[in-house]
Amino acid sequence: MNRSGMTRGERESRSRIKPYIDHKEMVRGTLSVRARTCGNPNCKCTRGEKHVSLFLVRSKDGKVEQLYIPRDKEETVRRWVNNWHEVKSNLEEISSSYWERLKRKE
Ligand SMILES: [Zn+2]
Repeated sequence: MNRSGMTRGERESRSRIKPYIDHKEMVRGTLSVRARTCGNPNCKCTRGEKHVSLFLVRSKDGKVEQLYIPRDKEETVRRWVNNWHEVKSNLEEISSSYWERLKRKE
């Protein structure tokens, strides 16, 4: 523990997050592949080769929302989602270090 009261782990978590907070795009959501039929009776999808589309799904204020993600945006959105997870897992570590402090009655 140093002067600021932070553990080394906490300082590391904070510095890992910083570049994300400062300048990386992020979005919270789960990418979900949906297969569907289009309604055209002559289409291959009626014979089992369904159309596959990607959606970004999130729950917010108790509601589930979804956004269609076009193929050319897939990589970008995957990166944004990963950035969100990176931030979130580091925040979780920071939170746990304070949880432990409370547990130890510090
Ligand atoms: Zn079809």
